[in-house]
Amino acid sequence: MRKIIIALFVVGLVGGANAYPVSYNKNSHIYHKHNCEWAKKCTKNCVHIDSREAIRRGGRPCKVCGG
Ligand SMILES: [Zn+2]
Repeated sequence: MRKIIIALFVVGLVGGANAYPVSYNKNSHIYHKHNCEWAKKCTKNCVHIDSREAIRRGGRPCKVCGG
């Protein structure tokens, strides 16, 4: 059991190497870091996902915060 937990942890680390939490705007397809002023303003159309998922959905990084 312990080995399985460690294996999952390692897979999670490798798989999520470049992923971080972002606010993704479903309308404009732009994603922001959570501390971005635009992320704070975006309450209606934004979902909290990770950066890889945002890119997978066709998202572009915000010009202010860099995504
Ligand atoms: Zn931003």
